[in-house]
Amino acid sequence: MSDPTVIQPGHYGHYPAIMTQAALDTMTRQAREDPDGFWLQQAGRVQWHERPTRGFEGSFEGNVSIAWFADGLLNVSASCLDRHLADRAGQVALIAHREGHGEAERLTYAMLHERVCRLANALTALGVKKGQRVAINLPMISEAVVAMLACARIGAVHVVLFGGFSADGIAERLVDSGAVAVITASVAWRGTKRVPFKETMDTALSRAGAASAVRAVLVVRTADDAVPMLPGRDRDYHDFVDRCDADFAPVIMKAEDPLFMLYTSGSTGKPKAVVHACGGYIVWAAYTMDMVYTHRPGDVLWCTADVAWITGHSSVVYGPLANGGTTMISDSLPAYPHPGRWWDLVDEYRVTMLFSAPTAVRAMMADGDDVVNRHDLGSLRLLGIAGEPISPDAWLWYHDVVGRKRCPVADTWWQTETGGIVLGPVPGVQPLKPGSATRPLPGIEMAIADAQGRILHGAAEGSLCIARSWPGQARTIWGDHARFCQTYFSKVPGFYFTGDGARRDSDGYYWITGRMDDVINIAGHRLGTAEVEDVLGDDHRILESAAVGVPHPVKGEGLVVFIMPRGDNAAGLTGEGVARLISQRLGRYAAPEAVYIVPDLPRTRSGKIVRRLLRKIASGETGNLGDLSALTDTAVVGMICNRVWGEM
Ligand code: ATP
Ligand code: MG
Repeated sequence: MSDPTVIQPGHYGHYPAIMTQAALDTMTRQAREDPDGFWLQQAGRVQWHERPTRGFEGSFEGNVSIAWFADGLLNVSASCLDRHLADRAGQVALIAHREGHGEAERLTYAMLHERVCRLANALTALGVKKGQRVAINLPMISEAVVAMLACARIGAVHVVLFGGFSADGIAERLVDSGAVAVITASVAWRGTKRVPFKETMDTALSRAGAASAVRAVLVVRTADDAVPMLPGRDRDYHDFVDRCDADFAPVIMKAEDPLFMLYTSGSTGKPKAVVHACGGYIVWAAYTMDMVYTHRPGDVLWCTADVAWITGHSSVVYGPLANGGTTMISDSLPAYPHPGRWWDLVDEYRVTMLFSAPTAVRAMMADGDDVVNRHDLGSLRLLGIAGEPISPDAWLWYHDVVGRKRCPVADTWWQTETGGIVLGPVPGVQPLKPGSATRPLPGIEMAIADAQGRILHGAAEGSLCIARSWPGQARTIWGDHARFCQTYFSKVPGFYFTGDGARRDSDGYYWITGRMDDVINIAGHRLGTAEVEDVLGDDHRILESAAVGVPHPVKGEGLVVFIMPRGDNAAGLTGEGVARLISQRLGRYAAPEAVYIVPDLPRTRSGKIVRRLLRKIASGETGNLGDLSALTDTAVVGMICNRVWGEM
């Protein structure tokens, strides 16, 4: 790989860095030498009813157990709301912009507190008890944030389900989670597309039938049309909730009581919900948001992720509110009603920190620089990304064109299971390398293991593991602790196995190479999907690409690539040209067996490319594609099958 660009922190001379490099080194050392002492001190970032005295308890061996701050007592909603009422009751906590609705809703901490209390009373009146699950299936409207915090306030476990799931996808998750109540909306709009939340929920509930424990459904009326309501089960959210009392004493929880469970996005198979605990999770959300984002008065953080993903939980709701910040949500799309829509909103709401996904960056890059250049964007001070590997090329575009070389780009690596950022820069302090998710935050002991599970030192490539527990770590997979032990702790004994591959360079920076399941082994050469896709990212006629391995009689595996060309700009793009580029840049061994130019790629609802499906299509296993419920658009699959195998 060519020598990467390094951008020194001095480049952002004006940047309000949170600490010096020396202080960061000290933190890293303290966390390594005395983890319990370090984390008990970090626990002071949140409000406790009873401050904990115990750090980590548990083990990564055998029947894995993970506990943090076990003697602490707290309520997460109190830490995110009540605690700020003394000095920032009038500060805006939440800006909720809705496309086509004029002025955004701006809720101060006092207003958000009041709404959360009313809903906490309403849920209690509906019979929801501590420890029971409540499913939240809402578009990006203020009620989504209120609902999560209200569950936290009464000690119920929230399960946020993505709005784009099919009725079957929702039914499966309602049954698996045992949810007793649902909070949903009547409809939502994604651009011109009407998303019928309530209809889908009705179908899901009738398909789940007696297997579902749902007794009550609260429906936020988001449009004027009539909504069919089932008497005895369904209630109009605002009619019911707005009449409830505006005060609710938070239920005191043990640190290890569950706060929420959340289904991973399903890029790799059957949906699984991981469980996060109140104390450790909120400490982690507060810590990571402060280290990477550092909310200051006047900051507006817009994380474009849906609340249904871990990014939405930690970077939209819990992280900003735990730190007393201002968070923004919006149901807008980057290019609707016109390209550059997100840039309009950055200017309109004076967004200081924008956090998005590489897939959105690539799409906006395709709209051209002019669209960005027409906007001021002077309010921005930090750009963030997470969710997928980003090529150095797209990173630099985000940095140079959107950030005008003034704003550091924080590429952050995390998983539903990690609860929050684990790899990511402390901006203005650490040098940045485009395409690298930089270094572990203090307290994270990252490791790289080889295929035999041996830990490698220094510059190395292999599977990304974590040596020691951290407070934000998931505690189990809901209802299947054996699967938890098997998935994350059996591959490299004594370590948490992330499932991703990474390369660590001689400066200790990490470069994610893709998922371990996706690593391609060509005649003994291991090739990460991200390495191939990075090379292709340098060809400006290619918008996105996906590399997969297929069985090969001689080499073991061969490379197949799928290319999505960039609209009007793709003249001259051929399969042969793509193949030549790959073998020139990565070596002749990497020459692809086939290159398919396709109009789109299969993606999860969170925008990730599902290579598992492409691998099956390319290897001819089209009769056995498995569960497609996590996809945004299943038609893409048929279209790609046709491209590869002809009309079927
Ligand atoms: P499933 O586990 O069901 O397949 P998922 O892994 O896509 O779903 P998430 O937990 O939302 O669900 O995503 C975490 C994964 O996203 C990581 O394991 C990694 O593969 C990818 N990822 C996240 N951030 C980054 C990043 N900055 N760079 C590269 N990859 C990233
Ligand atoms: Mg995963």
